[in-house]
Amino acid sequence: MNIPFNKPYIGKKELEYIQESLSNTRLSGDGPFTKKCHQWLQEKYSFPKVYLTTSCTHALEMAALLADIGPGDEVIMPSYTFVSTANAFMLRGAKVIFADSQNHHPNLDANQIERHITSKTKAIVPVHYGGVACDMDALNVLAQNHNLWIIEDAAQAIHAYYKGKALGSLGDLSCFSFHDTKNIICGEGGFISINHPGVQKRGEIIREKGTNRAAFYRGEIDKYGWVDIGSSYLPSDVLAAFLLAQLESVEWIQAQRMQLWNNYFNALMPLEEEGRFSLPQIPPHVDHNAHVFYMVLPTGEQRDALMYYLKAKGIQAPFHYLALHQSMYFKNRYIGPSLPNSIKFTDSLIRLPLFVDLSASEQGLIIEEVFNFFK
Ligand SMILES: *Cc1c(COP(=O)(O)O)cnc(C)c1O
Repeated sequence: MNIPFNKPYIGKKELEYIQESLSNTRLSGDGPFTKKCHQWLQEKYSFPKVYLTTSCTHALEMAALLADIGPGDEVIMPSYTFVSTANAFMLRGAKVIFADSQNHHPNLDANQIERHITSKTKAIVPVHYGGVACDMDALNVLAQNHNLWIIEDAAQAIHAYYKGKALGSLGDLSCFSFHDTKNIICGEGGFISINHPGVQKRGEIIREKGTNRAAFYRGEIDKYGWVDIGSSYLPSDVLAAFLLAQLESVEWIQAQRMQLWNNYFNALMPLEEEGRFSLPQIPPHVDHNAHVFYMVLPTGEQRDALMYYLKAKGIQAPFHYLALHQSMYFKNRYIGPSLPNSIKFTDSLIRLPLFVDLSASEQGLIIEEVFNFFK
């Protein structure tokens, strides 16, 4: 038996749309498929203005530029996240301030943010871990009181909701990923949702190498030129063609994932009741998107033992993030408080295989082996 942790789902329409894209002879960015993806995302999730990007990493870099983050500015984010969340702001010369996760969930603990806020703080970057919403009401109150940007790292959070509103629509700027480990994919890709009306125009320019080329193509100006700093953050229309097919399948993909997630949750509940591990806790008012199914073991040794046991049975069940404040790159720069929850999730969290094509019998075997381990 060999059950991988993830297997990208590819439907039937992806190739059809790619073929159509190739016959359009418009392979560069912002072609007809990109426009369709923009429209689809805006309508489906009520995002005011979205732009496809080459990755979530690049969407985060765009967000740092749009929020005018510069040297000396401080940006608060969880330590328990992917490196891109931090790099986007480090690249602008900002100081990254790592905050702790909640005790019961990897998301930022909103009650512990205030102690990190100084006169230099410019932004808070909540990461919706596993597509489970952060406490956006509390974070938005903090942002209002201290005049801060909220930049959502919604890389994992497509099709997830907070009090009925799509994640990515609650901050000033929001960044999503279509990397092939996510729920909706195009290999490498992402998008930014620009909810702050003051920077929508600038977003279009920064993404097009600092030029007003997009306005030129709309016929608003008679030549285009260099008007701001920027980079090349737009993906090829061929990738957008692939992506459109995925977006159009989102309800079906999500139904499969939710089913698998719920199966795990219900089947493993007896082991949680025995105190073997804790299962994901989903707060009220939150609709998650079944991006990750994880357990948190009482100790790092037990987590590792379960991971190696499953590996020996052919089941890939990996850990997840490594606390960034303790990383090789950052640990000597770190001067903040200890972040015990970030370390707990680093040491003790394990993820189970979860992808559309995981069969019921494979899932049954995984659950059985988890039970066998604890016998
Ligand atoms: C996947 C991920 C990213 C990076 O996304 P890419 O599209 O690969 O650049 C950033 N942040 C988080 C929380 C992620 O899960």
